[in-house]
Amino acid sequence: MVKSSVLGFPRIGALRDLKKANEAYWGDKISRADLLAEGKRLRLAHWKIQKDAGVDIIPSNDFAFYDHVLDHIQLFNAVPERYTSQKLDTLDEYFAMGRGHQKGGVDVPALEMVKWFDSNYHYVKPTLKDNQTFSLAKDPKPVREFLEAKQAGFHTRPVLLGPVSFLALGKADRGSSVDPITLLDKLVPVYVELLKALKAAGADSVQIDEPILVFDLKPEIKNAFKPAYEAIGALGSAAPSIVIATYFGDIAHNLDVLPAFSNLHGLHIDLVRSPEQLQAVIKQLGPKQILSAGVIDGRNIWKNNFQKSIELVQTAVEALGEDRVIVATSSSLLHVPHTLASEKKLPAEVFNWFSFAVEKCHDVSVLARAVTNPDSVRAELDANAATMKSRAESTRTNDPKVKERQAKVTPEMHNRQTPFEQRYAQQKKHLNLPLFPTTTIGSFPQTQQIRIQRNKFTKGEITTQQYDDFIKKEIEYAIQIQDELDLDVYVHGEPERNDMVQYFGERLEGYVFTTHAWVQSYGSRCVRPPIIVGDISRPAPMTVKESKYAASISKKPMKGMLTGPVTCLRWSFPRDDVHQSVQCQQLALALRDEVVDLEKNGIYVIQVDEPALREGLPLRKGSERDAYLRWAVDSFKLSTAGVEDSTQIHSHFCYSEFQDFFHAIAALDADVLSIENSKSDAKLLKVFIDEAYPRHIGPGVYDIHSPRVPVEDEFKQRIQEMLQYLRPEQLWINPDCGLKTRKWDEVKGALTHMVNAAKYFREQY
Ligand code: GLN
Ligand code: ZN
Repeated sequence: MVKSSVLGFPRIGALRDLKKANEAYWGDKISRADLLAEGKRLRLAHWKIQKDAGVDIIPSNDFAFYDHVLDHIQLFNAVPERYTSQKLDTLDEYFAMGRGHQKGGVDVPALEMVKWFDSNYHYVKPTLKDNQTFSLAKDPKPVREFLEAKQAGFHTRPVLLGPVSFLALGKADRGSSVDPITLLDKLVPVYVELLKALKAAGADSVQIDEPILVFDLKPEIKNAFKPAYEAIGALGSAAPSIVIATYFGDIAHNLDVLPAFSNLHGLHIDLVRSPEQLQAVIKQLGPKQILSAGVIDGRNIWKNNFQKSIELVQTAVEALGEDRVIVATSSSLLHVPHTLASEKKLPAEVFNWFSFAVEKCHDVSVLARAVTNPDSVRAELDANAATMKSRAESTRTNDPKVKERQAKVTPEMHNRQTPFEQRYAQQKKHLNLPLFPTTTIGSFPQTQQIRIQRNKFTKGEITTQQYDDFIKKEIEYAIQIQDELDLDVYVHGEPERNDMVQYFGERLEGYVFTTHAWVQSYGSRCVRPPIIVGDISRPAPMTVKESKYAASISKKPMKGMLTGPVTCLRWSFPRDDVHQSVQCQQLALALRDEVVDLEKNGIYVIQVDEPALREGLPLRKGSERDAYLRWAVDSFKLSTAGVEDSTQIHSHFCYSEFQDFFHAIAALDADVLSIENSKSDAKLLKVFIDEAYPRHIGPGVYDIHSPRVPVEDEFKQRIQEMLQYLRPEQLWINPDCGLKTRKWDEVKGALTHMVNAAKYFREQY
């Protein structure tokens, strides 16, 4: 019989329970024991959901209080000394690595956090030193959680991040030069010990994730699989049977690695992203190995087309037999919201088009039964076919006016009127900025008060007038603070925005929104991506009112703030029935109108954020990547090029890994770029000199993900480092990203130091 399997379940709970508990713990409102109990409650609830849905293979150790890669850092005792030396308890040490710790005389910044493959989830980077050692933590979490499940009557399959991916996703700590993969022979024995412990605890199988197999791999990394999995495979029956899981792409280009797994039980592949790899992978499997077929999308919310999936799984069953095929989610369900059942406001027509995590558990179980015995789930199959038909025939998805406008887009619409040098001369006159201009990235703290008022407004407890007045006061406050701080380019603070994508989605045609569909982005931060269901257009201006008001009461240039087309697309759940380039161009045209409207209303600095541009990059080099870059860059340019030369276009990116991506960033032709940089080496900026980058750049001078307030000298040191790589007249001074997750006193403290540091350098030049 074909079994069903889930690779991981969202951790945050139906009502962002984990976020609330974490934040309460950080704010000293609940105890350590309370937080641990809440974690346990969530794990048990999630196992029950899966069991009730009829899922055969249920994961454990997929839960994490902050991040699962961070869990592994602690699990392998690979915690950098700057944390262990603080003698915090295990949980606080864990959070210190995740988010920094500035309390009770302890002051340590967080470890670097980066995007998890091409998703909007972030993981904490293993940060390793030259003479790194590893050992298994006491009371290892995977064993503990397996036993916890077992006690509650759930037989689970623990999930581990594999040794090669763990190292390949890590980096050398500052001051070390170790290539993490060279540490493999020290790490593998820890896995061996852990696997034995899991077996002893009663685990009969384990899922080991090696997602890096979807990348183009350096030979050193590729060659690491063999020794790692020979050692693990040699355990034989001393270890649970092992399924290697890959996701977010195909592994067809790394098939030569598969013999390394030949002593293992099976392999999971993502057939949503890459159904084409099926045949090639089947051919490589050993005579007894099983294939876990990832056909239920772990990354998007569209209901699975059962008929198509059944056909795909049947191909595998024909080749391998029913006992050697598992029907699975394509990846962990971490990337989809908890349950559709919470959504009371979705239009009835579209409600049935979606499946969230809870529903996907059901889908995966139905699908497994459908492959074995379609008649046993006939009603579900018929209902699914009806849903597919309703969506395909809906008028909601199709707007001829949008298509007409897209047909009229010309190449010239993508370009500014003159090259940077010429238009910059006009901007300089117009904006009158000092050397090392200071600015922020857009948002100021989203306080409790803001959330309360927004909630009241959403519920109809206050009028639009009352809410607008409240927002105005918030803008006034943000401007007063910027006056006090003496910043050079102001922002209005984005108090009216619940989220940088959702806010725009709510103002565009073609979207639908959810009320509870939260997805974890990092730590306790969750986002609620809107869903693109049809052709997109802008019925009315979206941000002009707030920016215009802000400009009217400030003495310095006001920066208008928009989310770029690629980011709007990437941080929404996109359609799966139209190519993403088409959806992106529709967004670009809507934003172009907004940019022009801002300018018409006296906003002469406009930032179009594209933090998601890089994560959209296909994971492998080659034609797919080139094509993506072409349409993504074009969309940004289309959205921004409608302005006069004297208007300054900014863009912003929340990542530092731009070296391999440099040409795309340069091609955007933005007058000013702000980029995350504070936690990486300033040396990365060298690419800007090497490539003679002419335009302006604000590499972030401090980490906004952490509540920690850096001292003034840290800012000066950072700026000094940047000046080794950037021309003074090119350098802007700004934080890494928006400040919405911070508290006002943290913001005031940090920005005071930042502005002082900028002024210090202004005097030197
Ligand atoms: N303008 C946005 C803000 O400041 C940018 C956020 C982001 O890049 N993630 O909040
Ligand atoms: Zn950012």
